[in-house]
Amino acid sequence: MKYSEYSAVIIGSGAAGLYAALKISEHSNLPDGVLIITKSALGESNSKYAQGGIVAVLHQNRDDNVELHVKDTQKAGAGLSDIETVEAISQASDEVVNDLIKTGVKFDRNENGELLFTLEAAHSIRRILHSGGDATGKGIVEGLRNAVLEDKNITVMENSMAVELLISREKECKGAIVFNELTGEHEVIYTSALILATGGVGQLYKFTTNPDGATGDGIALAYEAGAAIQDMEFIQFHPTALAISPESKERFLISEAVRGEGAKLINKEGEQFMSRYSDKRELAPRDVVTRAIYSEMKKEHSSNVFLDASIINPLKLMNRFPTISAKCKTKGIDISQKPIPVAPAAHYTMGGIKADVSGKTSIKGLYAIGEAASTGLHGANRLASNSLLECVVCAYELADYLSFANLETPKKIDEGIKKMIDVYSRSISGREYDIQALKSELKSIMWNNVGIVRDEASLIHAKKEVEKLKDSFKRMHKCLNRDEYEYRNMLIVASIVIESALERKESRGAHARSDYRETNLEARHSNIIKTEEKELIYA
Ligand SMILES: Cc1cc2nc3c(=O)[nH]c(=O)nc-3n(C[C@H](O)[C@H](O)[C@H](O)COP(=O)(O)OP(=O)(O)OC[C@H]3O[C@@H](n4cnc5c(N)ncnc54)[C@H](O)[C@@H]3O)c2cc1C
Repeated sequence: MKYSEYSAVIIGSGAAGLYAALKISEHSNLPDGVLIITKSALGESNSKYAQGGIVAVLHQNRDDNVELHVKDTQKAGAGLSDIETVEAISQASDEVVNDLIKTGVKFDRNENGELLFTLEAAHSIRRILHSGGDATGKGIVEGLRNAVLEDKNITVMENSMAVELLISREKECKGAIVFNELTGEHEVIYTSALILATGGVGQLYKFTTNPDGATGDGIALAYEAGAAIQDMEFIQFHPTALAISPESKERFLISEAVRGEGAKLINKEGEQFMSRYSDKRELAPRDVVTRAIYSEMKKEHSSNVFLDASIINPLKLMNRFPTISAKCKTKGIDISQKPIPVAPAAHYTMGGIKADVSGKTSIKGLYAIGEAASTGLHGANRLASNSLLECVVCAYELADYLSFANLETPKKIDEGIKKMIDVYSRSISGREYDIQALKSELKSIMWNNVGIVRDEASLIHAKKEVEKLKDSFKRMHKCLNRDEYEYRNMLIVASIVIESALERKESRGAHARSDYRETNLEARHSNIIKTEEKELIYA
């Protein structure tokens, strides 16, 4: 097996991973440089597809302030957001977003060069910056990716997947095993700062806005390593994904900002129904809008409702939402004329690896940032455009924390780690699996039983079905290829989501239980799940 050493290793190249690499690379305590390991091409990520924007509480936006943003975030979070985390991230946003601009990220401005702010659901004022109209993620990722490629301190390993964390008997993270898709080999990477920036778990569900890579790898790896995982019952289902046909898996996002600019939701009868569900109508928090649409669809036995954007001035519509307009056009829909068929889809993971604002997890040497982490910012329901902000603020704070750390690569590797590496140097044989069919089966189980509305019976059914899939898949450690590793990770994460959802016997934010419809004031705490010791691999 090939071995290498780096002072800091970042897994993932979305907004969180790219920005963390750049900020860490600025420091002088890096004897062995910085490595980015990423599953596909550099920058391929959920981040790249973000549309609406990024929250920025900027001094020049006189209508805004930290208190107001904290209040909006907490309200959307349904009582579960961690107030200190929300305040810290909101307060840092001015400094970090300005640094992002200095790094080369371009946000949309008016003819006088002033930044443009937009409005999204559940924000009390316009405080969201955007790029390329509705291509904010592309703008951020391109700016950061160009800077990473110019940085001589950063090495990039593409088409490579972290598949196991190396944890010493003292419970410290010392590196990772990586599967290199190009060579088909496993490699060992040692480091004293292993940063998981691997994103969320949207691909667990049959219908999702997330690209293929969002299989919850980092959460599965951290869980297997014994790290604390938090709030996994809270999966955000975005209310408006393009739903051309009932079975089409492609669920292209129709950003909340379209509703922010005035578009209305209508049912099959053409009725604007949101006033029956919330006095905030289209601008109610996401979970509220999602359940309203779910309820209308059930009532009408239909697989979608419609978003009517024809109320917005056509010129404004085209300039502000060029990506959405173009996508709908390819499906034969002129959005200035015709309502868009939309339905909810799995979109964002509020839970994840329990971490503080500087990425520290419950395991020494292991850090988690971005969507893979759960800092407590989002609580039970994420406020629109807060996730990109969390990615960049936590990356910035992590780099600051690591600038004071000793980043010498570990010299002493204990017996436990040697045995773990040994598992990956042995060859494996066995039957071939139809992984695409197995993934589809798992995604249907999750969509039908652990989706927008759950109850005890559906969750127990899902638990049994996932156990059956686990029993029949014999490669829960070393696998043959990327697809198998992803499926292995999806099974691990599905069990955590189900376990957490069973545990929370109430409805709160994105977690709606038809058997416990009310919010229980005494359940105002997070669910934390941890594995037992990893004796199996050490044995
Ligand atoms: C369609 C869409 C629109 C959105 N719009 C907005 C918006 O307007 N505003 C907002 O704030 N948020 C938005 N979000 C959410 C936001 O984009 C994400 O939460 C955020 O970008 C996550 O960034 P990240 O860096 O944590 O993870 P990601 O961007 O998902 O990056 C994860 C990276 O890790 C890599 N990876 C994963 N597992 C492994 C592994 N085992 N080994 C190696 N590499 C691995 C992936 O290939 C990828 O490069 C949107 C999300 C989607 C899907």
